[in-house]
Amino acid sequence: MTPTSLVVPDAVPAAGDRRRHPAPAHLVFFHGPMDCGKSTLALQVDHNQRRQGRHGLLLTQGDRSGSPQISSRVGLQRDAVDLEPGTDVRLLVRERWAAGSRVDYLIVDEAQFLTGEQVEQLAELVDESHVDVYAFGLTTDFRTRLFTGTQRLFELADDVQRVQVQVLCWCGLPGLLNARVVDGTMVREGATVVVADTAPAPAPASEDATEPAVRYQVLCRRHYVRGQLEPTPTGPGQLALR
Ligand SMILES: [Zn+2]
Repeated sequence: MTPTSLVVPDAVPAAGDRRRHPAPAHLVFFHGPMDCGKSTLALQVDHNQRRQGRHGLLLTQGDRSGSPQISSRVGLQRDAVDLEPGTDVRLLVRERWAAGSRVDYLIVDEAQFLTGEQVEQLAELVDESHVDVYAFGLTTDFRTRLFTGTQRLFELADDVQRVQVQVLCWCGLPGLLNARVVDGTMVREGATVVVADTAPAPAPASEDATEPAVRYQVLCRRHYVRGQLEPTPTGPGQLALR
């Protein structure tokens, strides 16, 4: 596939823009719960694209370090551009082009944090500029609701795929939902805080030492509904292991 190649002009007079379309680009969205390997897949897709001689731009969100990266738990990492909610992705790409850089595709990690407008900008880049977009993000927040960016990607993407690496609940069933755990207790209400998937609960050394300890845990639906974070030795039908 050579999405940037030009179509040989047709002998028939061109009917508007329809004759000049190169191979169509695609907006593909991969989603899953935390720890399912999205960022690893993002870097693998980037690797495969680069091996074909294509040039990509890597974007992420919520990376507050000085040098934003897409990093995976298996040790891969690449530098990325950190998107702000107000960033116009189209302008970002056009600036690269104006500077003489090729951008054949975009890798967008933490895509759950995109605004609806940014997802629409990505779709426009696909349709009007033939840039392939591969977006990777969490499906639902800790309240089991779709993230804003995720919802718009579900609505607009050409292809939506659930990442196939299974994360298991403690009970052994596939884990699909992200539970927020505050001081050891699961909570279902509160603000959706921007925490990058691969950042293991950064807990930025706040001057407020009384701040509760927040972490996330992937659960199956049943144990999410029950708010059960681990086996209870005395629970009905449970084997007492210790
Ligand atoms: Zn479970």
